[in-house]
Amino acid sequence: MSDCLFCKIVAGEIPAKVVKRTEEAVAFRDIEPRAPTHVLVVPTRHVPAVRDAQGPDGERTLGHLLAFAAELATELGLDAGGYRLVTNTGKDAGQSVDHLHFHLLGGRRMTWPPG
Ligand code: AMP
Repeated sequence: MSDCLFCKIVAGEIPAKVVKRTEEAVAFRDIEPRAPTHVLVVPTRHVPAVRDAQGPDGERTLGHLLAFAAELATELGLDAGGYRLVTNTGKDAGQSVDHLHFHLLGGRRMTWPPG
């Protein structure tokens, strides 16, 4: 989508610290990290939010994103300490970029529930 920030990052039109990429997913460092490791995992195709990832296409995208994030967490050395993988959907959750993304957060003890 032409005016989508994360589509522009996927296309390389806006710089980002990309840490992993496949045909279907890209991971890059969050610009405002909330943990020692804070990476965003996004699909290369434009999907606004997880609520839009339904049916066979959504299933394939979500399956790939989750497996991709799990592999990345291992590569970043997060398995031993653990990590949080979370997605915000819509205004009550505080979603600020309307392109589906999972936050991969690790490297510190998390609190629960999130605020
Ligand atoms: P959310 O609030 O769940 O929609 O998450 C959006 C995330 O995108 C926030 O954690 C922002 O810090 C992050 N973000 C916004 N702009 C950029 C950017 N240009 N590069 C990397 N991360 C960004």
